[in-house]
Amino acid sequence: MKGKLKQIICEAIDSKKDELNNISQEIWKNPEVNFEEFKAHALLTSYLEKEGFEVAKSTPLETSFIARYGKKEGIKVGVICEYDALPGVGHACGHNLIAEAGIGAALGLKSVIDSKPDCNFHLIVYGTPAEEGGGGKCLMIEKGVFDEADICMMSHPAPYEIPSPSWLGVAQYRIVFKGKTAHAAAAPWEGMNALDAAVACYNNVSMLRQQMKPTNRIHCTIVDGGERPNIIPERAEMFYFVRAQTDKEVASMVERLRACAEGAAQSTGCTMEMFESSPYFAAVNTNQVMIDLYIENAKSLGVPFEDDSMRDILQASTDMGNVSAMKPSIHPIYKIKSEETNHNHGFTKAAGSAESQLPTLNSAKSMAMTAIDIVCEEGLLEKVQKSFEDSLL
Ligand SMILES: [Zn+2]
Ligand SMILES: [Zn+2]
Repeated sequence: MKGKLKQIICEAIDSKKDELNNISQEIWKNPEVNFEEFKAHALLTSYLEKEGFEVAKSTPLETSFIARYGKKEGIKVGVICEYDALPGVGHACGHNLIAEAGIGAALGLKSVIDSKPDCNFHLIVYGTPAEEGGGGKCLMIEKGVFDEADICMMSHPAPYEIPSPSWLGVAQYRIVFKGKTAHAAAAPWEGMNALDAAVACYNNVSMLRQQMKPTNRIHCTIVDGGERPNIIPERAEMFYFVRAQTDKEVASMVERLRACAEGAAQSTGCTMEMFESSPYFAAVNTNQVMIDLYIENAKSLGVPFEDDSMRDILQASTDMGNVSAMKPSIHPIYKIKSEETNHNHGFTKAAGSAESQLPTLNSAKSMAMTAIDIVCEEGLLEKVQKSFEDSLL
């Protein structure tokens, strides 16, 4: 029976490929950043309504949504869409394609529900805004929206096909140095230079970097460095991301960063304040049983995977990590043809290209087929749950 249902999924997704392409093209042409995804929200919710989903718009956030299909019984399958862009570089992370893959998977699963199989399931599509730094999923988790899901899945484009990349946990911190203003030529000795404190902090972290594990990441921008050269800056602000493979390692790196900032403040006579500026993104906990099914399904469509040694090549972070900490989840990355990696202009171009369509549809099909495996094969959900519980030990 599963084979027949998988065929239904593939045919349904193929029959909607023009509409799906149109969705990702519209989102790509209208890039909207964190919490401002109004056009994408309107487009996706009206499309799902047209397809017969019961849609709760602006729930629980202004640009998030929850769409349902099928009787509210049986296994609850959560499919996640993202649609936010990056400032300045548009859809350089390809979230327009994430939305397309999520909607595609949802249409495939809808067609199975319409075919009235014996296996019962309820489909929930989550529209999750502000992945790029805003932590939309974290805010949605606080409202309890993922509580009812049994499994959650999404996929992400990249220049590689890696089902279980080593996603990093990330903490975001702002550091504010305060000193004392003075005329930079007439009486510089009267000042305490907050920009110097920021530069010292930057250099301290650069020295720390040589003692870090190769999988750790720490990077910043100086968002405030004073106004004019002839006024000693009395205020400077830095914005840091601290990443590591485990939450514990991130916490320890944050303490090293704090020491770098304290040292910089002390040496320049400034004061220092350090505060977390965004929810913590946990490292993604990929469910092994689910991802093995995803790989098998993708391979059945002829998708080739990179070898395991590539697992660490794309070290990034996502708020999907927080979902994966509470529900069995997958967040594979799938390959689209691109000269550059994510967050570059070249990737923006790739995310809008016709060539990215086939891999996105394949990923949509693979997710939907994976859900069908879990829904239809007796005992498989229990295996998924056991694997999830074991991963938390
Ligand atoms: Zn990104
Ligand atoms: Zn992304």
